Amino acid sequence: MLIVQKYGGTSVGSVERIKNVARKIISTRNEGHDVVVVVSAMSGETDRLVSLAHEITHVPVEREMDILLSSGERVTVALLAIALNSMGYPAKAFTGRQVGIVTDSVHTKARIERISGERVQEALKEGVIPVIAGFQGISEGSDVTTLGRGGSDLTAVALAAALKADLCDIYTDVEGVFTTDPNIVSDAKKLDKISYEEMLELASLGAKVLQNRSVEYAAKYGVKVRVLSAFAEGNGTLLTGEDEDMEKVVVSGVTYDRNQSKVTIIGVPDKPGIAARIFGPVAASSIIVDMIIQNVSQESLTDISFTVPRSDVKKTITLMESIIKDIGAREFEVKEDIAKVSIVGVGMRSHSGVALKMFSTLADEGINIMMISTSEIKISCVIDAKYTELAVRALHRAFELGN
Ligand code: ASP
Ligand code: MG
Repeated sequence: MLIVQKYGGTSVGSVERIKNVARKIISTRNEGHDVVVVVSAMSGETDRLVSLAHEITHVPVEREMDILLSSGERVTVALLAIALNSMGYPAKAFTGRQVGIVTDSVHTKARIERISGERVQEALKEGVIPVIAGFQGISEGSDVTTLGRGGSDLTAVALAAALKADLCDIYTDVEGVFTTDPNIVSDAKKLDKISYEEMLELASLGAKVLQNRSVEYAAKYGVKVRVLSAFAEGNGTLLTGEDEDMEKVVVSGVTYDRNQSKVTIIGVPDKPGIAARIFGPVAASSIIVDMIIQNVSQESLTDISFTVPRSDVKKTITLMESIIKDIGAREFEVKEDIAKVSIVGVGMRSHSGVALKMFSTLADEGINIMMISTSEIKISCVIDAKYTELAVRALHRAFELGN
């Protein structure tokens, strides 16, 4: 088999750990597989580089940021290739540019356009282990680009697609994808497999196991991805297309997001064009609105509630002060400490009563629901942040997700 192995920041966080990674690669090789390796920077390194730039200015030029940030991965590929060679296994470190990862020129969040991968193929043919710097590419204009934070996952998945690899193993510091946060629920269970779609919902809800774009990419090209621990034995979690078994399970996981805040505009005139006048300026300020709820109007006045990232609350308040004057609304209020609790599962498509069970479970715990939103495979409720753990535990139990 041809296997792409990606090692995250904690797996290569020290020289000792890098040597350990080298041993894992060698054992896969000795099982008779071809291995292509992708690595992240040492844990904390990319953050350290970002803060160095921020000591100089709050708005560093993005082109230069990419040169700076891409340096972290150069260190780890070189050290890992040095380790492999010293253990008697020929290996070569490559930058993104050297293996032809061509991106657009949107610095700090570039998209991959194509991968030539020639030097990777060459190395494999010569029996040399290619060790490739994650998170980076090169634009048409020959500038170094980076793929957005967590982008090494994307490098690995995109290489696996380009090389038609049999498997893309992502080694990280957790044993796989769990039914919920094991820090909150002690009997959270590791899933053996999960569909791309469910993984996307879980990832965007804050279960930060894989970078979101890497999951999208894997789904698009049908890359078989496995998430597993670099430190413990085990088979991890396999990401694949949906199958019949998956539909039998109604809910696969419970997640939560405590990084949102709720804004309610009260006494909004109920007439055409108002929503655009509220959310136009919000979008223009690059504030990402998650949920929006508009009440039924009474006497041609309505209330509109929506959520924004907590880090954007100050910006949103400044905007609202002028927007309510512009649209003639009465007032607005902000509730910062909310949480969004969600259940996810492809089985929801074919089962009824799932929402009811979620609402009654929360009600039984005396938890008030402030907002609700649904998609085909997800139901989310906004609640008071102080009940997050209680809600997650109750839902995990109600849907019988534990061991
Ligand atoms: N080193 C980069 C980051 O910290 C890319 C990665 O780790 O995947 O975001
Ligand atoms: Mg990562």
